[in-house]
Amino acid sequence: MTGDGTRVVRAGLPEPEAFEPALPGPVFAAHFHLPGDAVGPYMYGRDANPTWTRLEKAIGELESPDGSAHTVAFASGMAAISAVLFSQLRSGDAVVLPSDGYQLLPAVRTRLESYGIEVRTAPTAQDAQLDVLDGARLLWIETPSNPGLDVCDIRRLADAAHRQGALVAVDNTLATPLGQRPLDLGADFSVASGTKALTGHGDVLLGYASTRDAALAESVRLWRKTVGAIPGPMESWLAHRSLATLALRVRQQSAGALALATALADRPEVTGLRHPGLASDPSHRLATQQMRPGRFGSVVSFVLPDKAYAERFLSALTLVDDATSFGGVRSSAERRARWGGDAVPEGFIRLSVGVEEPEDLVMDVLHALDVAARAAAQG
Ligand SMILES: *Cc1c(COP(=O)(O)O)cnc(C)c1O
Repeated sequence: MTGDGTRVVRAGLPEPEAFEPALPGPVFAAHFHLPGDAVGPYMYGRDANPTWTRLEKAIGELESPDGSAHTVAFASGMAAISAVLFSQLRSGDAVVLPSDGYQLLPAVRTRLESYGIEVRTAPTAQDAQLDVLDGARLLWIETPSNPGLDVCDIRRLADAAHRQGALVAVDNTLATPLGQRPLDLGADFSVASGTKALTGHGDVLLGYASTRDAALAESVRLWRKTVGAIPGPMESWLAHRSLATLALRVRQQSAGALALATALADRPEVTGLRHPGLASDPSHRLATQQMRPGRFGSVVSFVLPDKAYAERFLSALTLVDDATSFGGVRSSAERRARWGGDAVPEGFIRLSVGVEEPEDLVMDVLHALDVAARAAAQG
């Protein structure tokens, strides 16, 4: 029995060696000494790098503590998502995507369709993707979904997809492998953006795909090599270094998010409040089944009366940056409709709780709501 907090501090580290650091530094190399035949673990820097190897081993240990997962790291979450979809799908295949997933999925859809792949979508909530699964080659799940925070039953969807021979990939960005382990729930791939909570400091873009199937891993790795969507050694090393605090960050962020959601539930101007850890949330029962207790993620979503109200709220915050992305150590929030990609109301706020003291954060948010309310009352 090893707890996650213990596992993360040693994940992917080499055996201790006298006079060497615990986590060796980034290896900067476009090519490696290669006498004789072109064989060996490290030959050219687009194919493999020891810093990636250590990071990939670490993430694999978190996604699948039994050591059975192969992980391929990428330059970004989108690189990882595209790698899985475009390496597995062929012209004439059908794929099921969530209709409420990450904002770039519509662009991915257009690209897939241009290659002769049929794309079907359905909402994450109520496992609605089951209804359009018939004959599909791959099912793409995002749970909890970003930014709406709906949850679907990974096990149920994976079983249904496998019965008809479809592959299943789960976007595990929001939960992180400490919040949920899609491979244990039957998924073929756990894919994520490491840019968010996994690395958590808002200073790295990264992505990865994990699978227990060696052949699937190899095809994703070949995709990485052919499109060249490789992570930099420095980013890979920063990501590995950041993993050591993942359990601390996830626990603190989840506790803060729950405290904030609880406080927001009492506010009359707040509607559509969502957080999977909140007992009254429509996703809570299912989230409790497949996510780890107390690790429901950093994100709280809610709706304020209109655009002006939401903008006043955001500008009155002092501990929360008006910025996109989520999962970082510093709290951030944004009016999501400003991007135009998600189907959300003008006053929709996605707030990501950092690792500040929850009481400070709750006070700051409630104060900003008061400021926005006063401004609204004055017209
Ligand atoms: C951010 C995000 C991505 C894309 O990741 P990048 O690292 O920004 O490319 C994919 N899926 C979800 C759910 C995300 O939040």
